[in-house]
Amino acid sequence: MNRILVFFFFLIFFSCQANKYAATNKVYKRQVKQLAKEIMRQPLNGNKKTWVGTTNFGLRKPDFVIIHHTAQDSCEQTLKTFTMPRTQVSAHYVICKDGTVHHMLNDYLRAWHAGTGSWGNNRDINSCSIGIGLDNDGFEPFAEEQINSLLVLLDTLKTRYNIPQNNFIGHGDIAPTRKNDPNFSFPWEDLASLGFGIWYRDTSAIQLPEDFDAIRALRIIGYSVQDTPATIMQFKRHFMQVEGDSILAEGDKKVIYDLMKQSM
Ligand SMILES: [Zn+2]
Repeated sequence: MNRILVFFFFLIFFSCQANKYAATNKVYKRQVKQLAKEIMRQPLNGNKKTWVGTTNFGLRKPDFVIIHHTAQDSCEQTLKTFTMPRTQVSAHYVICKDGTVHHMLNDYLRAWHAGTGSWGNNRDINSCSIGIGLDNDGFEPFAEEQINSLLVLLDTLKTRYNIPQNNFIGHGDIAPTRKNDPNFSFPWEDLASLGFGIWYRDTSAIQLPEDFDAIRALRIIGYSVQDTPATIMQFKRHFMQVEGDSILAEGDKKVIYDLMKQSM
């Protein structure tokens, strides 16, 4: 008798585990259906008499990948955060420390991961990007298994959507006054060597032009320069891999010069 009870206990326990997100998965489906209805609506505004549906169209595709650290305690906590309506935040993918990849939103849909920010003249980053959250408390180094899974995912996304190398960037890059993720230990150089994001080349032979304007160059790379100290600190976080001050040394300027050349 006891054995049967234990059996049922485990059966219920494991089925609860498997269906942990059954309720929010249902909400996801309902919302996708609602959006599909919206797409079916034609004409969206205006006169039905003048509506002529074209026969030639497709889906809009993402053109940027924004990498985040989650600044949370665990992958499980992030999954919870991204499935609670009141948080109003999400990402397309969450990658746990052990390399598990959770896909949370169809790539064609708009996740709420970027917030206010810009890169070049792009201001609505959520509309043109894929957001990837890496489980990380914001300070620790990134796990090897996690980075390996990230690289596989980036390769898939780059090929599938033809995303340019320069368009793999961090949350801190698009919002330097508000964000600092992924933290300074993120292996941007390794990513760039595989074609995801840019990195500087040997700068020892660079002679800076007399009229070189590093702030203008940061703008050409893509950074907003409305708050230059914040932007310089973010540049240092990403490319010099330090949590530094907002002063640019000669070596920093040479790096900016080379990155600018790669961004023109
Ligand atoms: Zn972020």
